[in-house]
Amino acid sequence: MQHVTLNNGLTMPQLGFGVFQVPDEEARSVVTTALETGYRSIDTARIYDNEKGTGLALAESGVPREELFVTTKLWNDDQGYDQALKAFDASLERLGLDYVDLYLIHWPAPKQDAYVDTWKALERIHSEGRAKAIGVSNFTARTLDRLVAETDVVPVLNQIELHPYLSQEAMRAANARHGLLTEAWSPLGQGKELEDPELTALGEKYGKSAAQVVLRWHLQLGNVVIPKSVTPSRIRENFDVFDFELSAEDMDRVGSLDRGGRIGPDPDTMG
Ligand code: NAD
Repeated sequence: MQHVTLNNGLTMPQLGFGVFQVPDEEARSVVTTALETGYRSIDTARIYDNEKGTGLALAESGVPREELFVTTKLWNDDQGYDQALKAFDASLERLGLDYVDLYLIHWPAPKQDAYVDTWKALERIHSEGRAKAIGVSNFTARTLDRLVAETDVVPVLNQIELHPYLSQEAMRAANARHGLLTEAWSPLGQGKELEDPELTALGEKYGKSAAQVVLRWHLQLGNVVIPKSVTPSRIRENFDVFDFELSAEDMDRVGSLDRGGRIGPDPDTMG
């Protein structure tokens, strides 16, 4: 497993496991499979409604807590200083943990205009050691600039939608300017891009699947990546990406597939 170093000195696995759209009962078995495969970083959120099942799998795994990297996120209707503190306590309790490794604001929700106050609550949680790192998700250049200008702790990363059809060059540069890592959500484009002839051809060239080629592209770009699957063979396949390397030319071939193909909501209007 490769690790990346965050701007607060902590390290995290560059490849993790996401559990979006996994029902709570299933999260327990799916996260167990992921941990058995070797994943140590798990990405959940209050809104996924599976923090309990995820927490049970973590507790039952026997993996020492210090080897795990657990991320959860604050949902839009919990924005605001007091609400954020309460929401964090509730997430921690559902997870059955006494700290998380990373707590994220899920969306900036600019219409609410509460993300600066919300961040101040995250800074407090961080100073209390209950989140080892704090970060953001779906922040745009504008919302990130304002957050950094008006608060004390710089987020460690920005988790954004990023896959070959939406390569987010400008946003990756904006994150880097502030010293944040970029974490890619829907890194496989929710599986919809994997039939692309360019990706299947690259898979054949390297003796790998299109999914593995895409994950390798992320890793070589420096993205933190959190693919999701509920299928054990795919959970293992997505982890088996450390024994080959895309050439510079093939990195460009994947990069050239960008077409502004957003799958999820627009961060300027969401929330
Ligand atoms: P993804 O890009 O990881 O795609 C997952 C889907 O791709 C699977 O459901 C399956 O259909 C397919 N797939 C997975 N592995 C495959 C393989 N090896 N071969 C063929 N098909 C395969 O999409 P995602 O779940 O939306 O994103 C990953 C994680 O990112 C989520 O679980 C969640 O943790 C996070 N996320 C965050 C946000 C956010 O707003 N911060 C939004 C969406 C997702």
